Amino acid sequence: MNQKKWILLVVSICFVLATVFSTSFAFSYLIHDCCGANCSTCVQIETVQNLLKSLKTLVIAKVLVAFAFMCIHILKLFHLFFTYISTLHLLKIQFNN
Ligand SMILES: [Zn+2]
Repeated sequence: MNQKKWILLVVSICFVLATVFSTSFAFSYLIHDCCGANCSTCVQIETVQNLLKSLKTLVIAKVLVAFAFMCIHILKLFHLFFTYISTLHLLKIQFNN
C-alpha cells in the first residue's frame, strides 16, 4: 500500500472514531445535573454538536463531489460509446464515388 492510501486510511479511521466518540459522549451526558447557564457539560455537548455538524457537512460535500466525478465519467463513456457506434464504417455505409 502506498503512502497516500495509508494517509487516507488513517484519516478515515480518525473520522469514524471522532464521530462515534462524539455521538456517544453527547448521548451519555445528555441527561446530567445541569448547574445553569455556565454548565461545562452543556458547553462540551454544544462543542460536540458543532463538530458533528461540521463532519456532516464535510461528508455531504465529499459525496456530492464523488457523484459529480461519477457523472462526468459516465458521460465520457456514453460519448465514447456513441462515437464508436455511429461511425460510418461500423454502420457499413458505402459512398458511391
Ligand atoms: Zn448542563
